Amino acid sequence: MATLEIHDLHVSVETETGSAEILRGVDLTVKQGETHAIMGPNGSGKSTLAYSLAGHPKYTVTGGTVTLDGEDVLEMSVDERARAGVFLAMQYPVEVPGVSVSNFLRTSATAIRGEAPKLRTWVKEVKEAMARLNMDPAFAERNVNEGFSGGEKKRHEILQLELLKPRIAILDETDSGLDIDALRVVSDGVNRVRENGEVGTLLITHYTRILRYIKPDHVHVFAKGRIVESGGPELAEQLEAEGYERYVKGGASA
Ligand code: ADP
Ligand code: MG
Ligand code: MG
Repeated sequence: MATLEIHDLHVSVETETGSAEILRGVDLTVKQGETHAIMGPNGSGKSTLAYSLAGHPKYTVTGGTVTLDGEDVLEMSVDERARAGVFLAMQYPVEVPGVSVSNFLRTSATAIRGEAPKLRTWVKEVKEAMARLNMDPAFAERNVNEGFSGGEKKRHEILQLELLKPRIAILDETDSGLDIDALRVVSDGVNRVRENGEVGTLLITHYTRILRYIKPDHVHVFAKGRIVESGGPELAEQLEAEGYERYVKGGASA
């Protein structure tokens, strides 16, 4: 039973003018099989939370705890976190020049599983996963994220998600830049991964649109570096109608 527990997490980022506190006490528990949507205005710290959980070196944890099944995640290196089953699909995926999608996926799978997947079954696995995501097989030979369109980047992230089978999946604005058809393909992919009930999902989004396709169990409003309100799916509908105004201007965040 995978449980990610975030308690009173404080995170700062180094800027040219000094250190700025971005996360100001985040509390959240994500259990296996659950989907939590984190919604909030731009600049509220959603991506900072995602990067901090994945162990990005730019973000310094100044307080609080993060555990996965009781194990201290903050003590783990980026690789150890991936091996422990923490997966991050980034809002802005980075290019990996000279590395093909196919090699990248196999290297990642090897690192996470602790042994190289058997070539024949692996090739079949990748092919089938790509077909489900409506991806051209030639895509496997392209360099990671090099010249990828927004939609291709997101499909590639979901391809990784399907193949790497994490215990905790953090999806940062997986819906941004997708047209309605791509959104459906990507959402179907996420739902397939959720289906077996083995993954806990943290779905970070700015818009409610994706929540029509990926139904969350819990919705959290993120503002000024903290969760300021939590509820069920109805909270997303309320946000759609009312926006984030009242959270940004004091209100529930006070
Ligand atoms: P969101 O994902 O909710 O839009 P972010 O986590 O990207 O928010 O950003 C939160 C705040 O932290 C913003 O004010 C942003 O400028 C700042 N920030 C985040 N990452 C960095 C960084 N690497 N360097 C400087 N400032 C950063
Ligand atoms: Mg943003
Ligand atoms: Mg962001």
